[in-house]
Amino acid sequence: MTVREELMKMLEQREEEMIAIRRRLHAHPELSFKEKETAAYIADYYRGKDVEIETDVGNGYGIVVTIKGVSPGRTVGLRADFDALPITEEADVPFKSVNEGVMHACGHDAHTAYLLVLADCLIQLKDKISGTVKIIHQHAEEQPPGGAKSIVDSGLLDDLDAIFGVHLLPLAPAGTVGTRSGYAFNGRTYFKLRIQATGGHGSSPHKANDAIVAGAYFVTAAQTIVSRRVDPMAAGVVTIGSFDGKGSFNVIKDSIELEGDIRYSDTDTQAAIDKELHRQVKGLEESFGVRCELTYTPDYPPLYNNPELTAFVAMTLDGAKDEDIREVKEFPKMSPSEDFAYYLEKVPGSYFFIGCTPKGVETPYFNHHPKFDIDEDAILVAAKSVGQVVCSYLDESRSGASGEPDQRLSIG
Ligand code: MN
Repeated sequence: MTVREELMKMLEQREEEMIAIRRRLHAHPELSFKEKETAAYIADYYRGKDVEIETDVGNGYGIVVTIKGVSPGRTVGLRADFDALPITEEADVPFKSVNEGVMHACGHDAHTAYLLVLADCLIQLKDKISGTVKIIHQHAEEQPPGGAKSIVDSGLLDDLDAIFGVHLLPLAPAGTVGTRSGYAFNGRTYFKLRIQATGGHGSSPHKANDAIVAGAYFVTAAQTIVSRRVDPMAAGVVTIGSFDGKGSFNVIKDSIELEGDIRYSDTDTQAAIDKELHRQVKGLEESFGVRCELTYTPDYPPLYNNPELTAFVAMTLDGAKDEDIREVKEFPKMSPSEDFAYYLEKVPGSYFFIGCTPKGVETPYFNHHPKFDIDEDAILVAAKSVGQVVCSYLDESRSGASGEPDQRLSIG
């Protein structure tokens, strides 16, 4: 039996354990940056096992586990996030959240469950593996600045040759794996603009300088950024969600505050929007004689999946002929943001998707809905898919391929 076959068999035999871990985590969700118990549970899982473990990595409870194979080879990172959301659970499940107002509504419980068991199987097989696997249990994906960037900055991942991760999405039934080459998730920027003018009596505008008129002009002008400055084949959004200009009907406002949300499909679009918005703010000062204070905070970058490694994932899973991985297909681009993007800025890799629509459900509740639920069959699919990818990736380093994966894949 090959190592790959052995790994797949072990995973199949441990499916119930993965489901039990997922339910345990589901019942005890914790918010981003506050996942103390969850991190302790994960660290405890590795206790007594023959691996290096680093806890409290980055700006929170991140955990990095290093599994060294028997002979040298490539180093591959696998990441699963473990934080939950400030949502009151409405899903009707026996392992419902016991933490009021907090819910695993994005499937991070399932991500962690599959990766723990996969990691344990790899530890048991490490005498037969060439290369190194770094398991990244990441805190705080849901809340900017997120945990990913700080884990990258820790230096613990400096030796990675590639990184892979998955997200459960109810876009397809369990058994379907989705891939997306190139840009797959949008990047995001938050901004706040304070316009300082000069207040006065409503009857005497010439003795004042109206902040509301300047702000209203800015709101209108900002609508031309996407329509006139962004490549029509790319995607950009500029939303001004808050305009704080409340006052009295006969008083000219001296200052107002706007808040907005910017999204972009790629770094060129990000640069185009950045440039134009800053230019418009500068122009506003000049045209209206006001003073502008702009807080401009890009958080998660657009997520870019390496095309070669994404093709490699699809080929590996297609070629696996595994009865649990029934279909591999291209998934659409996602409009939300995901801090896995930070790892992909540092090292090539691919973030792919595991279908999890509950059986018999036609219109599933999407991630972040209070009734979000998954088909738990998807957990084994995640474990096997990532396991297959790791086997193929490390296998190539043993067969002497260097750097980029080549076209002849040995599905041993
Ligand atoms: Mn998520």
